[in-house]
Amino acid sequence: DPKTGNFKVSFIEGDGIGPEISKSVKDIFAAAKVPIDFESVVVKPLLVNGVTSIPEEAQKSINTNLVALKGPLATPVGKGHRSMNLTLRKTFGLFANLRPAKSVEGFKTIYDNVDLVLIRENTEGEYAGIEHAIVPGVVQSIKLITREASERVIRFAYEYARAAERPRLIVVHKSTIQRLSDGLFVDVAKELQSEFPDIKLETELIDNAVLNTVSDPSKYSDAVSVCPNLYGDILSDMNSGLSAGSLGLTPSGNIGHKVSIFEAVHGSAPDIAGQDKANPTALLLSSVMMLHHMGLHEHAAQIEKAVLTTIAAGPECRTGDLKGTASTSSFTEAVIKRL
Ligand code: NAD
Repeated sequence: DPKTGNFKVSFIEGDGIGPEISKSVKDIFAAAKVPIDFESVVVKPLLVNGVTSIPEEAQKSINTNLVALKGPLATPVGKGHRSMNLTLRKTFGLFANLRPAKSVEGFKTIYDNVDLVLIRENTEGEYAGIEHAIVPGVVQSIKLITREASERVIRFAYEYARAAERPRLIVVHKSTIQRLSDGLFVDVAKELQSEFPDIKLETELIDNAVLNTVSDPSKYSDAVSVCPNLYGDILSDMNSGLSAGSLGLTPSGNIGHKVSIFEAVHGSAPDIAGQDKANPTALLLSSVMMLHHMGLHEHAAQIEKAVLTTIAAGPECRTGDLKGTASTSSFTEAVIKRL
């Protein structure tokens, strides 16, 4: 904004607990004096000629600001709507899903030092939605892999590895069986390698990746993994389970050529909505990813540290999902005190 010198970011507060956890982010950003003005956008699903779409005003805001933060959106059941997340992905060409999974001190899981980064191809593979019945009782589902989509996500993965100073890029695949499709994905990674001599390229079969990750996740602390859509869907939730034991702490980024949208992985939690019980951590850590993406590294580090030290401080500082007694607002206050 030329008047204030601040960045403008679109904010989809979302449904259910969305407004409560969004308020937490806004209060903490204001206290930390982050140079961002949020523009609230409402994303209620519309059916245009039978196709789910998002309101034009929201599209305009996001296409202008290029960065958005998003709370959870409830998918209306039984009204012919496609998932809103899929709609956002398609509308803004968000081709890569970035899922870091890091241990949180103060919330014990099997492993203490999990630090994984997974990048999932977000537009094709088994999610291309090409399925048909050949004859009754025989159906066919097509896994679509293109050079173009593989190249853009793998290039982003190399660039991310370089920026995050993680010197290994691991392509996760099953090209022993899916010779042509996963084979192409692996070939593209090998072709791009010459542009990134500082990053070591490795390949790993999906079954080995699962076994090695659950056996010793610390083997991957210096790596970024990249994989086709379905493997990424499954692996990323496994990584969250290993690091945080729940999706309630897991942030994510959806990256496109122009627009990027950062969001918590959890849903709208209708069972606790409006009760000041929701944990805003996943949305806060998503906002930290967003600040890094925008180059606001110092603000990102300050907020991340305040959130993590609050969680580590004891059960009276944690929300109910982490077996604590804090409310959304008392947790937020505690984070603000630690900024
Ligand atoms: P959910 O994630 O909303 O809830 C699962 C459980 O986790 C509930 O018990 C809930 O109380 C708890 N929970 C989730 N987030 C929490 C938080 N921040 N703090 C404390 N507890 C939390 O999953 P669901 O019940 O399967 O889905 C509810 C709605 O959310 C559906 O309409 C679904 O379509 C939508 N959804 C949206 C997204 C998204 O926008 N990214 C993702 C998943 C589900």
